[in-house]
Amino acid sequence: MTLAVLAIGDELLNGDQPDTNTADIARLLAGHGLALGEAACVRDREEEIAAALNRLAAAHRAVIVTGGLGPTADDRTARAAAKALGVPLALDPVALKQIRDRFQAWGRPMHPRDEKQALLPARAAVLANPEGVAPGFHLRHPKGAELFFLPGVPAEMRAMLAAGVLPRLLAAAAPRPAAAVQRLTVFGLPEPEIEQRLVRAALPDGVELAYTVDFPVVRVRLSASGDGADLAVDRAELAARRALEEHLVALGDETLAGATARLLTAAGLTVALAESCTGGLIAKLLTDQPGASAFFERGAVTYANAAKTGWLKVPPPLLARSGAVSAECARAMARGIRRAAGTALGLAVTGIAGPDGGTPDKPVGTVFIALAGADGERVEGFLFRGGRDRIRLHSACTALDWLRRQAIDHLSGER
Ligand code: ATP
Repeated sequence: MTLAVLAIGDELLNGDQPDTNTADIARLLAGHGLALGEAACVRDREEEIAAALNRLAAAHRAVIVTGGLGPTADDRTARAAAKALGVPLALDPVALKQIRDRFQAWGRPMHPRDEKQALLPARAAVLANPEGVAPGFHLRHPKGAELFFLPGVPAEMRAMLAAGVLPRLLAAAAPRPAAAVQRLTVFGLPEPEIEQRLVRAALPDGVELAYTVDFPVVRVRLSASGDGADLAVDRAELAARRALEEHLVALGDETLAGATARLLTAAGLTVALAESCTGGLIAKLLTDQPGASAFFERGAVTYANAAKTGWLKVPPPLLARSGAVSAECARAMARGIRRAAGTALGLAVTGIAGPDGGTPDKPVGTVFIALAGADGERVEGFLFRGGRDRIRLHSACTALDWLRRQAIDHLSGER
């Protein structure tokens, strides 16, 4: 039998908050071969929550519920669960102790309203919340389904799902046929081209392919089941590596930025950035990676001409002659930041992210990227399409890809 998710919250249904919890749960379960059969979403209304619980509990072997466990009046999940099961609410001493301990550990006074989070349906088993205040809880529905109640805050939900829910779901799951999955992240090729290359690569029989665009990368899922699934997926991965060449940027959960960081670290290359239209996005993506200090020296956001001349020593006559959005300026920026930082690499991006500022010569989306290193400089102009966010993200990912490839070249030169 399958599993279900019930996401609770007005904000999920009025457009204020995308329901990322359901997606996170689906991803984690799928990664462990557990099938999600249904996902539902209801408002913060006691009767609607109770009705959805009863309906899902009758159709699935377990229901994972998120949201509405907090201290405020609009948090009604525990009351609705009690109603659905026809049991009273009671102050749970284990839950209350967990809440008190949490405030004590934070050195903050507990508000009397926080006690409400310990009011749980009778017979509920408390699930600890290592990341926040509201404890979760577990109940068995009279129809047999297991019900897991988790807070709505995504980080709390994820921690409790992995520690408190997943092990129990796996323990109760029927043994399943062998299955294998590999995920590929591809950058710089459109989806149809990726598909064509993979079709021509003649992957082993039985390997299924699924494509998802997560702009500007495309993710490809290779999967197989039954005897020999691991071997088939390994072989498919090998064939895909050959077919996609250097456009295959990462495997599994690794991201483009993660792969870039790993390779720069392995190559021992240090980097400094001079960003104009990306406004620090490349620095953000790189410093999101734990251990970034191994390769990341500094990032300058040099938006105004004065910043480019002052910090990066771009010559004013060059700016007057070619403009800030030009190959010459990008090259001077990369050279300037590399010299200032004393790093192995200096990378610069300058462009017009729009919506204003385009000209017939340099329309919105015109972006120049430059990379300066010990073996010389490289500069290239691009015309990225889409709105401001897409142009900035495409620019930043292209820059990451340049750094990634530079690190690969450096590593292969060392061999
Ligand atoms: P809290 O103790 O913070 O009140 P809670 O269990 O009551 O936790 P909610 O109040 O429902 O949870 O939501 C807390 C936060 O988590 C809100 O910012 C909400 O928008 C967010 N959130 C709730 N459900 C989801 C969801 N399905 N996907 C993403 N975010 C969510």
